[in-house]
Amino acid sequence: MTSEQQTTRRIVLAARPHGEPRDSDFRFEEAALPELADREALLQTLDLSLDPYMRGRISAAKSYAAPVEIDHTMVGATVSRVLRTTDSALAPGDVVLGYGGWQTYSVERTSYLRKLDPASAPVSTALGVLGMPGFTAYAGLLTIGRPTPGETVVVAAATGPVGSAVGQIAKIKGARAVGIAGGPEKVAYLTEELGFDDAVDHRADDFTDRLRAAVPDGIDVYFENVGGEVFDAVLPRMNTHGRIPLCGLVANYNLTDLPNGPDRSGALMGQILTRSLTVRGFIQTEFAEDQFGTFLDDATGWVSDRSLKYREHVIEGFDNTLDAFRGMLSGKNFGKTLVHIAD
Ligand code: NDP
Repeated sequence: MTSEQQTTRRIVLAARPHGEPRDSDFRFEEAALPELADREALLQTLDLSLDPYMRGRISAAKSYAAPVEIDHTMVGATVSRVLRTTDSALAPGDVVLGYGGWQTYSVERTSYLRKLDPASAPVSTALGVLGMPGFTAYAGLLTIGRPTPGETVVVAAATGPVGSAVGQIAKIKGARAVGIAGGPEKVAYLTEELGFDDAVDHRADDFTDRLRAAVPDGIDVYFENVGGEVFDAVLPRMNTHGRIPLCGLVANYNLTDLPNGPDRSGALMGQILTRSLTVRGFIQTEFAEDQFGTFLDDATGWVSDRSLKYREHVIEGFDNTLDAFRGMLSGKNFGKTLVHIAD
């Protein structure tokens, strides 16, 4: 880990997964780092972010971003230390947010890096509550969900970095927040630690009944992170003029086919029509240019006055990246999933 570092250990995509990703879909390898060109930096990865969107990037299905090519390094946001740079705006020892991917060292263009201030917040928050997931919650909830005081906001995957911010920002805006999460420990955390008004376990046998009891006035905003059976339980409870920011469908990401059963798209469209619902899909990047600065100011203030709390699920060691990735997709994480690679 000196400025003379010449190789990186990396994980490349070896095959396109069918269903849940397997070890054989990836390959660990040692590779030479390129020489630094003008305005580049040699970086040592400290923390690697694991996010659900990465499951989409290793599939060949058409999406909003090009897939990772076979034999190429897996993509991902990173917090890294600058070891050497050809840009006078940075210095060795600076800590930066970048997009180094699944590797222990990287060479990146400095225009893609954001220098972090370790004194203002722990640097890992740039990958979670003060980064892309927190911004996704902020932009999707406030621009599409637009909750007003007293309205009911429901969010699933509610202990993750997106869902936990959605519920807490809803509370900050005066709405009632109801979280859906997997298991009693996560459910208790939502009400006892994060101040959600109620929380429901989607794995419980009587999930639908519990959800009904938790939203006596119906649902005005459903922030959709998961789809599947959770969506089926939520939809009949949507109020007229309800809003559904469609952020993610993590219940589907490892499916190889749509679930069997009758075509229910007609019934779905019927509910959207008769209740005048707004369903709006979004990718957070579309709001970033206009809103990221305001988000960062607001969220930094909320984190420091503890109206926006966060939790990190830190996996130690680069070798454990694949297990951590699978675990995050199936709910074994409890908070923002990070792989801690170096101090
Ligand atoms: P999380 O850390 O919350 O991880 C995913 C969680 O999904 C799991 O922990 C699990 O939580 C839950 N989950 C998995 N399978 C199911 C299921 N079948 N039913 C219900 N819940 C399930 O992820 P993030 O907070 O990072 O992301 C949340 C969502 O936001 C994802 O869908 C992601 O793709 C999306 N996203 C979209 C963006 C955009 O621009 N549109 C940007 C960033 C994220 P539990 O144990 O509680 O079930």
